[in-house]
Amino acid sequence: MAVRVIPVDPFDLVIFGGTGDLARRKILPGLYLRFLSGQMTADSRIIGAARADLTEEAFRQSVRESIAEFVPKPKQDEAVISAFLGQIGYVTIDAKGEGGWPALKAMMRPGMVRAFYFSVAPALFGDIAERLHLHGVADGESRIVVEKPFGRDLASARALNEVLAQHFKESQIYRIDHYLGKETVQNLMAVRFANILFEPIWKAEYIDHVQITVAETVDVAGRGAYYDKSGAMRDMVQNHMMQLLCLIAMEPPYHFDPNAVRDEKLKVIRALDAVKPEDIVRGQYRATIDKGGDSYAVHSENPETRTESYIALKVNISNWRWKGTPFYLRTGKKLRARSSEIAITFREPPHSIFDDHTGWRENVLVIRLQPNEGMEMMVMIKEPGPGGMRLTQVPLDMSFADALGSEANDVPDAYERLIMDVIRGNQTLFMRGDEVEAAWAWADPIIQGWEARGDRPQLYDAGSSGPEDALMLMHRDGRRWRDIR
Ligand code: NAP
Repeated sequence: MAVRVIPVDPFDLVIFGGTGDLARRKILPGLYLRFLSGQMTADSRIIGAARADLTEEAFRQSVRESIAEFVPKPKQDEAVISAFLGQIGYVTIDAKGEGGWPALKAMMRPGMVRAFYFSVAPALFGDIAERLHLHGVADGESRIVVEKPFGRDLASARALNEVLAQHFKESQIYRIDHYLGKETVQNLMAVRFANILFEPIWKAEYIDHVQITVAETVDVAGRGAYYDKSGAMRDMVQNHMMQLLCLIAMEPPYHFDPNAVRDEKLKVIRALDAVKPEDIVRGQYRATIDKGGDSYAVHSENPETRTESYIALKVNISNWRWKGTPFYLRTGKKLRARSSEIAITFREPPHSIFDDHTGWRENVLVIRLQPNEGMEMMVMIKEPGPGGMRLTQVPLDMSFADALGSEANDVPDAYERLIMDVIRGNQTLFMRGDEVEAAWAWADPIIQGWEARGDRPQLYDAGSSGPEDALMLMHRDGRRWRDIR
């Protein structure tokens, strides 16, 4: 099945922080791939902006190096790279100074979609927003893209929203959560709302519980001091995992329209119960002899650290659809495997007609985000052979690679898709300001609770599945986590 590419309107995209890590690893290679596919056309321009005093040629050379490092070799086409670099400019700008802005204004072309990517520390968002207006670089139609973290609590998120709102309308602001750009995450909406099959049973009556796992094998070495100010709750749960939970739990929007979708997500966040202390397990990885490496305390350069590199939570949603169906969330660093998935476990049939029930297992719909994006439905069948009616569980596998063939490899990565959505002016996959604030309003008391109690995270072995207490969180409810593999 061919992946259709519809070119976007020509644009001028300014990347503040164009020389930074995110621009080098994700944004610029992603734009090159969209150019290669034909989605970004030859009349679009990309302008890097940072304090470094670079010539345009030097910036282009650094973009060439990013492509060489971060784009798969078979997609590196010299003629296309040269053409792409020809569309790239650079301007030296300090977000906190007045120099460079007139030059940037002169580069903006009338009639083009105009977008500004704030790939800089959030402390600079206000300065950039203000100067874009002061110097007449942005207009009433310009779009701005802001990166995570969007605040570290409700107060700071509100302050950020306010500073952006002074210069831009909500319809101009694109808050990126790259999880929403993943193919499978969008497929979750297609599966739920384009099929009659699932929606009638998508409720507490038929769903026993939901597990959302984001397991990483990486540690925080090299950025431990930064991570230590955040921790897993702020870094993963409040944003990425919250978004996944919303997409599973939300009511059908009346239309696949940015505000209709975001209204429904917001209702879910507002319906979340406060989480009880006994429903939270925080962990910190420790070094193990066989797995090598250092402990979290060493990586964070803070021997007294109480920040969690792992968290598991049981979350309840107080509404008609979900009352009685807990959502278990867990995420952590330095775990056994890199694996992100959502698993929806259905309830037992009300009555078994089979004498031999031993092989029976629950139906589980597994949505894999990584590795191998795809979906799998665990169903019961008769064990093959003449040995009578015995039950066994098999997966119905819906991996994209199988269904779509080699074209599945051409599915754009989350950043590519989201940047193209900015140019198209489609905010469906971006968080709205009130959503972000509601998520912090839920997360804040949880964080304040463990800070006030002085809770210490439980240590877990590097390379394990996380702390022992996280197993208990489910065992005591008669359930178990799926293996991390
Ligand atoms: P980074 O590597 O430190 O890059 C920061 C960029 O900002 C550089 O280009 C820097 O260039 C520029 N900059 C710094 N101060 C400036 C100023 N006063 N005026 C203009 N430009 C300035 O940071 P990053 O990792 O790319 O992260 C950028 C943003 O994305 C942050 O908000 C981060 O939280 C977020 N983010 C990053 C990642 C990631 O994987 N890296 C993932 C998710 C979110 P000069 O020093 O030359 O000015």
